[in-house]
Formats: sequence, structure tokens, C-alpha cells
Amino acid sequence: AKSLQDLYDTAGPHVHPALGRITEGVMTKGHGSYVDYSDGRRYLDFTCGIGVTNLGHAHPKVSGAAAEQCMNLVHSQCSIALHEPYLRLIEGLIPIMPDPSLDSFFFWNSGSEAVEGAIKMARSVTGKQNIISMQGAYHGRTYGAMAVTKSKTIYSEGTAPLMPGVFTIPYPYWHQCGLPRDTPTEDLTAHCLNQLDLLLKQQTAPQDTAAIIIEPVLGEGGYVPAPSAFLQGLREVCTQNDILLIIDEVQSGMGRTGDYWAISESGVRPDILLTAKGLGNGFPISGIITRTEISSKMKKGSMGGTYAGNAVSCAAAVEVLKTFKRENVLVNVKQREKELFSALKAVQADQGVKGLIWDVRGKGLMVAVEFAKNERGKESVPKDMSKRVAQKCIDKGMLILTTSVFEVIRFIPPLNITKEDMAKGCQIFAEAVKEVIR
Ligand code: PMP
Repeated sequence: AKSLQDLYDTAGPHVHPALGRITEGVMTKGHGSYVDYSDGRRYLDFTCGIGVTNLGHAHPKVSGAAAEQCMNLVHSQCSIALHEPYLRLIEGLIPIMPDPSLDSFFFWNSGSEAVEGAIKMARSVTGKQNIISMQGAYHGRTYGAMAVTKSKTIYSEGTAPLMPGVFTIPYPYWHQCGLPRDTPTEDLTAHCLNQLDLLLKQQTAPQDTAAIIIEPVLGEGGYVPAPSAFLQGLREVCTQNDILLIIDEVQSGMGRTGDYWAISESGVRPDILLTAKGLGNGFPISGIITRTEISSKMKKGSMGGTYAGNAVSCAAAVEVLKTFKRENVLVNVKQREKELFSALKAVQADQGVKGLIWDVRGKGLMVAVEFAKNERGKESVPKDMSKRVAQKCIDKGMLILTTSVFEVIRFIPPLNITKEDMAKGCQIFAEAVKEVIR
């Protein structure tokens, strides 16, 4: 048999070149907060496969539950029959819903599919067409999801026409509002709600508007938590105008922000809640969760999919939920959050960093550092700072990602990361920043 390196050299060039990657080589093993490559490299993983392996790689209980399910029933096709893990997953999710009204579950495979399903559901049950999304939003790469994605043009460049009927308002993030960096949160909120008001008067009437879709923490757009007052304002507008509020917690949900759902802090009731990523800890599963009052308006057979609610993924997700309780994961998130923030703020305040960190923000272990942007070639601000810092971290043995069109690095470590590994990651980051600036 060929060595892995030979295989990489011969089969690698046949991988679709449009699939971008931040590291070369072959990942062979994941264990807890670490991943190994075939050439002996080992990385501390602050990406979690983009917010997925939140309980660490190959969590023995989750993998064990999946393996056991594999030997029992892999696939029933849920249009043929339900299986036990599907029902157990509903049973496990009901008590942790951000609002008790959310009592109707449809499981799919990916976040994008969940978004597609939510748009379809919103149009179908309201009999209205238009969808409002946020500037900076990321909802996926399938056609409907791409149409409501507004974070980077690369995701849809050259692929029009997209799904029509999409309108946008700014996310309460100063870049997106065209307001100064020190604009108070209340002013950003008021600006965005005012834009919504105008949009509903000038571009899409409430009687044509089916839904508003929002990430309660802007993800691929820069890791920006939405102020509660903004989410509450959206809820009010939706309620008054018979518009459905779709809360996309594909990245922010399942404990990432220190609560099961980022929306909970605001007290806002979603009409449709979307989950994926961390739900299966790496096994593909997503959820579209709504009220029976809404879902029952759809015709039987109008929702489905070959792998929707796959038995192995559901079994893994059931174990994920149990693990959160058994291992007190949310408590760990809150403890590590404090350490991460204080370490990043220390880097921000460091004399040697010369005020080049504009912001440290986030919620739980969904945290961002935003660097100063090199505007009009100012020499004191290094170009592509976030990419260069991320690369330095990788060189030093930590996987980490940038995000958005701004100079942002995102921290998405495992939710059960140890104090020692958190400290190690923060140390690597601090060194990387100083080396890039030097
Ligand atoms: N919504 C959000 C908020 C996301 O972060 C993502 C993925 N980054 C998606 C939807 C799409 O999920 P998937 O890649 O599983 O299709």
C-alpha cells in the first residue's frame, strides 16, 4: 500500500481545487483538544472543525454511542419509519429549548439544509415570500442559504440568479452600520431597528414579508453578539406584523456561548430555531425546531430527505446532550471564558501591541479579536494582520481561524477544554501577535 504521503501527492491534486484549506497534509487522529497529522505534527485545536467538535475530538462516549448504533440500525429513512434515537433526541432537546413553545422537531444533515427548510417553512405557512437577513450574515452555501448569506461575495460570486425576495438590514456592528467604532450599543441598535422600519415601509411590506433570519451571534461575519435590545426589537416587529423570526444557532447554539442557546439571554422567543454543528459533535445532523401550531400548517410529505434524522447521527446527538450534563460542560465554558477574556485583554493592553487590537468581544467560548485595519496603507498598521497572526499560531502548533472581511480572529476552542490547554492557546496567540508586529 502507498504511504499516506504518496497518497496525498497522487490523490490530493484530484480534490476539487475550490475547496480552500488552512493546513497542508493529512489529519489522521483527533483526541480531545488535539489533532495529529500523518507527518507527526500535533496541533492544539482552537477551531473545533468550525464549531463542531465542541466536546473534543472523538469523545469516547459520543463515538461509542454512534458505534453501538452502527451495529444496530444505521438507516431507517424517516419517511419509512422513525427509530429510537430520533425520539430520544426529541426527548433530550425539549427540556433545553429556549422557549417552551418550541415543540416540533425536524432533523436534517447540515446547517445549510436547516436554513433551506426554515425558508421553505416560513414561505409555506405565512403564504408570503420575502425574507429579511442581516448584512454580514452567513447561513450556508446552498441556493436559498446563499441568498440570505451576506458575509463575503466569494460564496456566491458568479452563480446568480440566487433565490429572489431577499432584503437586508445592517447587523448592529459598527462596520456594518457605517458608524464610528465607539458608537454605543444602544445607538447601533436604534440605527438597525430604524433601518428595519424603513425597509418595511419602503421596500418590502409586512404583508409580503415571511421571515427575518438572524444569527444571535454574528458568526462568519465577525463574531459579534447582537444586543438583547435589538433581538427584542426584532421580536416585537415580527409579532406585530405576522412575520416569523428565524434564529440561526447553527454556530452559536448547543452550549457555545455558555448557555445552550445564545438567544436565551434576551428572553426572545424564536418562531423557528436552527441548530447543527455541535449537536452531533462531528456526526452530521441539524435541527429545524418550531411550534406545532406552525409546522402543522404544512402538508404531509412536504418535508423529508433521504438521510434526514439519520439514526447514527441522532444516537451521537443524544449522547452529546447527556455529556453536557454529566461533565458539567456549561460550567466549564463560563470558567474558561473568563480566562480567555482576561488573557486576550492583557494582550490588547500590552504596550508592545501598540493599540493594534481594536476589540475583544464575544460570548462564552465564541470570542473574537479584531485588529486595526490597514486603511489607505498606513505603515504603522501591518497588512492582513489577522491572517498573519493566524498563520503564526499554526506555525506554533495551534489551529485557529480568521473570520469576516474585517481583521478578525476567532476563538472556538472545545467547550470542555482544560485550564492548562486554554492557557497554552492564549500564550501561543500572545506570542504570535507580538512576532507579527515586531
Ligand atoms: N448558519 C450558520 C450560522 C453557520 O455558521 C453555518 C456554517 N458555518 C451554516 C448556517 C451552514 O452550515 P453547514 O456548513 O453545516 O451547511
